[in-house]
Amino acid sequence: MSILSSEKILVANVPVSPQHYIDGKRVNSANSFEVISPIDETSLGSVAAGGADEVHAAVAAAKRAFPEWAALGPKGRGVYLRRLADVIESHIEELAIVETTNNGSLLEASRLRVMKRGAHNIRFFAEWAEKLEGECWESNGVQYQVKYQPTGVSALITPWNAPFMLTTWKVGPALAAGNTIVIKPPEWAPFTCSLLADFAEEAGLPPGVLNVVQGIGEEAGAALTQHPDVARISFTGSSETGRIIGKVAAERVVPVSFELGGKSPLVVFADSNFDLAVRTAVGQYDNAGQVCLAGTRILVQEEIADTFLEALKNAANNLILGDPRKPETNVGPLITREHMERVKGFVERAKAEGATVAYGGNVSEDVGGLYFEPTLFVDIPAHAEILKEEVFGPVLTLQTFRTEEEAIAMANDTEYGLAATVFTGCEERAARVGSAIHAGTVWINTFFARDLKAPFGGSKKSGIGREGGNWSFEFFCDITTISSRVGSFTKK
Ligand code: NAD
Repeated sequence: MSILSSEKILVANVPVSPQHYIDGKRVNSANSFEVISPIDETSLGSVAAGGADEVHAAVAAAKRAFPEWAALGPKGRGVYLRRLADVIESHIEELAIVETTNNGSLLEASRLRVMKRGAHNIRFFAEWAEKLEGECWESNGVQYQVKYQPTGVSALITPWNAPFMLTTWKVGPALAAGNTIVIKPPEWAPFTCSLLADFAEEAGLPPGVLNVVQGIGEEAGAALTQHPDVARISFTGSSETGRIIGKVAAERVVPVSFELGGKSPLVVFADSNFDLAVRTAVGQYDNAGQVCLAGTRILVQEEIADTFLEALKNAANNLILGDPRKPETNVGPLITREHMERVKGFVERAKAEGATVAYGGNVSEDVGGLYFEPTLFVDIPAHAEILKEEVFGPVLTLQTFRTEEEAIAMANDTEYGLAATVFTGCEERAARVGSAIHAGTVWINTFFARDLKAPFGGSKKSGIGREGGNWSFEFFCDITTISSRVGSFTKK
């Protein structure tokens, strides 16, 4: 299908361009793809489907813009990036309603937290780059100076579950580092990244510094990762896609940063703050479980397991499943019918393997086709798929353990290692368990705490590398050591 009009389309009454943004201009494609709202499965419009040609134009524009952008230095770039953050902040309401309409995430959370976080991501990394100084020291008559240098064009590829937040998390450090960028937004939720291009223009970013190529992952995304002028690939998405991109990057020896899937444990010891642990456990249904960090494997110490299950069941019963635009809603829809069928498949196979449904387990037809009930499995055979694979839906499992050693072993019994959450009243146990769990982030008596200074990323199948603070710059920069003989210069 071809896009005939270059007009913006209205998404929840917000005008959004369905086109690419290349070299500071909106660009059309011969092909397009349709975007559906998960709220009611209506079409939101057609978006340009890029391929190798559009990717080539965007990378070429980014390559042309690179020398001047890099030469601005962190302070010069910071002026533009602070303006970009300000522009984002002035459009929070539009961003929130467009994202919710596009991916079904809760509007209140978007308005109050998620979109503001997008602006914060840009501002934080602009400021961090200004303070970033490589070490400098002398040894055996030689002075060593470590420099963080821009690398060229970065490819940024992101998923649909929090597209704006996750994209800005990459845009901030990539641009602050002095690189120019090509973003490939997720095809199921492409609109807020299109708005980001408008905001970059409003903030006065020079043409070619930030480019957006819309399209399907296997076409536009693949062309971007294969492009010979891409110097860095920063990818957030599934472990399966990570594996495909990893092969391409290995062939060209291009550094990758991978934030991938998870199957995180949420461990509750008998000595924990019971109410907080239950509240956090039921909170794992947030975004209909479409959260990479979700603690989907609940592990509860045997002596409190029955009361915990009862309390969790009550809390889940009180969740309101429905339209994510309504403030009272707790759980919205799954992103697409295809994804819903995938989630249903996991649930059906779990039942067939002998797991027991404690509650939920079905699509809530009276609410709408993509609304899946918060679901919990108990009495699960150890080999069951539901304990191993990422469902990415509102489906949790509950298992019990007797001892701390058993809890650690069960928490680590996964190929993933994105995050873990532990509830205990004992500080020494917290320290022991916290360091024994193999994951990029371990939260103790809290959940989702995220400071951009701290490294974030996945261990095992959950990723490669870390984002945040210096870690982001270690990825997006070339790190050069300049070693000069002390006293070898005759003039300044
Ligand atoms: P996905 O891997 O299907 O797609 C992610 C992005 O990659 C999309 O933009 C897609 O178009 C693109 N893509 C697909 N195939 C490609 C290819 N061959 N080459 C280049 N790009 C390609 O993932 P998804 O379904 O969009 O997102 C859900 C997954 O993302 C879950 O596994 C979730 O855990 C993970 N995720 C991880 C984090 C994290 O921080 N670790 C955060 C959010 C989501």
